[in-house]
Amino acid sequence: MRVLVASFLVGAIGVFGLFIGSFLNVVIYRVPAGLSIVSPPSACPRCGAAIRPYDNIPVVSWLLLRGKCRSCNTSISVRYPLVEAGTGAAFAAVAVWVGQGWSEVSTSSTTGVDLVVGVLVLVAYLYLAAVSIALALIDLDVHRLPNSIVLPSYIVGIVLLGSAGVVSGDYGSLLRAGIGLAALWAVYLVMALAYPGGMGFGDVKLAGVLGLFLGYLGWGSLIVGAFSAFLLGGLFALGLLIARRATRKSGIPFGPWMLAGTWVGIFFGNTLWNGYLSLFGLA
Ligand SMILES: [Zn+2]
Repeated sequence: MRVLVASFLVGAIGVFGLFIGSFLNVVIYRVPAGLSIVSPPSACPRCGAAIRPYDNIPVVSWLLLRGKCRSCNTSISVRYPLVEAGTGAAFAAVAVWVGQGWSEVSTSSTTGVDLVVGVLVLVAYLYLAAVSIALALIDLDVHRLPNSIVLPSYIVGIVLLGSAGVVSGDYGSLLRAGIGLAALWAVYLVMALAYPGGMGFGDVKLAGVLGLFLGYLGWGSLIVGAFSAFLLGGLFALGLLIARRATRKSGIPFGPWMLAGTWVGIFFGNTLWNGYLSLFGLA
């Protein structure tokens, strides 16, 4: 019964993610262009025909229309259904991850407080997942991390995780979140000042957000998340150099690696860190 309810919830959150992914496609296209994300309604970029509600079902509509506009037959990039499917999968993964944490703490004495904290944490990391997908693709497209997405994320993170910490009385998480925010922000600021061509101030502002969400979860998450960004980004840059598809100066955006590293830290950080410590007999 419990497994059934859990599966249903994960499925429902995944389907919700498909629709959020559809919205993220609009965000990714319009925010860098300085356009409103609410109006006008979506239209074909070639012929201007409005997208009908029944042609706007995530993934399904693209498949039914075989990737073409119903009016003018111009092809619609496969990236749209991929972003939708990816967001759905990411949301389901976050739901499973929160559920696992939940089943570790839940006992017969599980209270309403635990439920409130669980929901706050779930919403906070679903928000971070959505923002991560939008920012990674915008950074790849235009080499920017828009303030209009990054700065409100500080408020969302502080309000949701701050409430979770206060409700649960776990002030240690709040302290770590604050230290994570300040530490990653400072590290990236130093790098941006030391290598002006490499790291940008968009990366510095994003680093604070990621430090906040990583620090809340634990020192292992923070350390592994921060380190993974450099490991993944460094390996990718090395691969490109070996394949001679990049020169040392061809400015590869770092935002997507910061975000990918953060999710490694969120999902596996504490486990990896504890394994690492026990390797040296420290835990
Ligand atoms: Zn069209």
